Amino acid sequence: MAKRTINLDMTACDNREMRIGSITSWDGSASELVEASGYEERGKGEKRRGCAGGKGKLCQLCELNMPFSQQTMCANAIVGCQIGNITDCILIDHGPIGCSANHARFNLGYKMGLIRRGKPVENLRIFSTNLKERDMVFGASDRLRQTIQDAYDRYHPKAIFISMSCSTAIIGEDIDSVADEKEAELGIPVVPLHCEGFRSKHWSTGFDISQHGVVRQIVKRNPKKQPDLINIVALWGTDHFTEMLKPLGLRVNYMIDMASYDELAQASEAVATATFCHTLGSYMATALEEHFGVPQIDAPQPYGIAATDDWLRAIAKVVGKEEETEAYIQSEHERIQPKLDELREKLKGLNGFVMTGSAYAHGLISVLRELGLGVEGSIVFHHDPVYDSGHEHQNTLKYLVDTYGDIPHFTVSKTQPFQLYAILKRVRTDFVIIRHNGLAPVAAKLGIPALAMGDEHFPVGYDGIIRVGEILLDIVARKKFNQVLSRHTDLGYTDWWLSQEDPFVLARKPELLDEPIHEENGGKYDG
Ligand code: SF4
Repeated sequence: MAKRTINLDMTACDNREMRIGSITSWDGSASELVEASGYEERGKGEKRRGCAGGKGKLCQLCELNMPFSQQTMCANAIVGCQIGNITDCILIDHGPIGCSANHARFNLGYKMGLIRRGKPVENLRIFSTNLKERDMVFGASDRLRQTIQDAYDRYHPKAIFISMSCSTAIIGEDIDSVADEKEAELGIPVVPLHCEGFRSKHWSTGFDISQHGVVRQIVKRNPKKQPDLINIVALWGTDHFTEMLKPLGLRVNYMIDMASYDELAQASEAVATATFCHTLGSYMATALEEHFGVPQIDAPQPYGIAATDDWLRAIAKVVGKEEETEAYIQSEHERIQPKLDELREKLKGLNGFVMTGSAYAHGLISVLRELGLGVEGSIVFHHDPVYDSGHEHQNTLKYLVDTYGDIPHFTVSKTQPFQLYAILKRVRTDFVIIRHNGLAPVAAKLGIPALAMGDEHFPVGYDGIIRVGEILLDIVARKKFNQVLSRHTDLGYTDWWLSQEDPFVLARKPELLDEPIHEENGGKYDG
């Protein structure tokens, strides 16, 4: 049996930074990051490069050490918007109510996702144990037991998940034991998720923890193969994959958001697993491959013509539909070409800038380059030097650089608005594309129109290129409005900070933070 990298015997999974060496701060060109990542050797499990030569056990890629974070999410929040979005299960957030503050926003995303997938609209069902000071002193396991019981009595869910928070991790709550006890009592899976926020500086670790729990305790152990079923690990996007995969005779099984218990359970019966983003899907795809023999698609993600071709061909190879797929690819190229030519003409001379999660950004930049747009810079919120599978053709950053050329200013930064001014002033851009909307107002105040990419499947496939091109025409038409806005708004930073050329100056010179600020001199520090 091939060596397994994902250990389902444990209730917890390793953090992303420890498992695959992910980072959150870096600045350079995309080609330099490809080189520094050493995807190939990491993928083969060979001695991995890390900081200072890389003999270290953690094998983390070398990164800039920022002294503070202006804002962030955490793994607990990601579990809330993943596991909390399973239609017939319950998530219990074991912590103070503050950790559940963003669930109202997640409810909106859940409802929009249900509408996009044509499922009945409902509220999400996340309970909080609402811990108080007394619980922090005397422990809160009884409160957790009672909450599990209440959730079961009220909703009779098919499974109950428990998410850990920083507080319950600090006081050492034993959620594994409580889960075992209640699972035996209730006769449904009760799944502990070790997602306390301080556990990892990568919120993406929350994706892995969610998927670990699902594969470990929900997915069927004795699968009966469904040869026309393909898993797509996704978020809340519109169902464009059904249309793309119908010519290959495949039905789509979306995971995890808006899926039901039974849809998740049948993941081991699928013919293959693919994803719209390897950052999101790699852990689950690898776990299904290693433990249930469900092959994952070894290809880049389906963005832009070249990668969509390669993605479809890789699926065709697994399902034995090569001939039909070649004909389909040919007809799709011919279908979109006139519209693509028209869009390229209208967008000629424009530049774009992408700010999204890691592998997804690689796909979006491919789409922009396919439309003939210049891309001088980009921000990814973290970078994975390798994905869990280590499969050769999933090296999305290398694929981007090899296919569409280098990106001179490729920045890894975790949604830090204070860095945005310095990052944007060194590139030419007519618009920005953003996934985490908190950065959009900053770009708007700088006079740059923003496309907030709410539906993450929007750029997928051949039609995705056309969809993005058409919406960009609307976005750049707002440029004048944004320019007026920028003349009447203030970013709120000192002149000294705005005069900095290096967005990572505080990582390179952290001593600046200890120096007094002179308001009369543009907020300038000594030194
Ligand atoms: S970082 Fe910790 S305290 Fe903050 S929301 Fe996440 S789990 Fe709760």
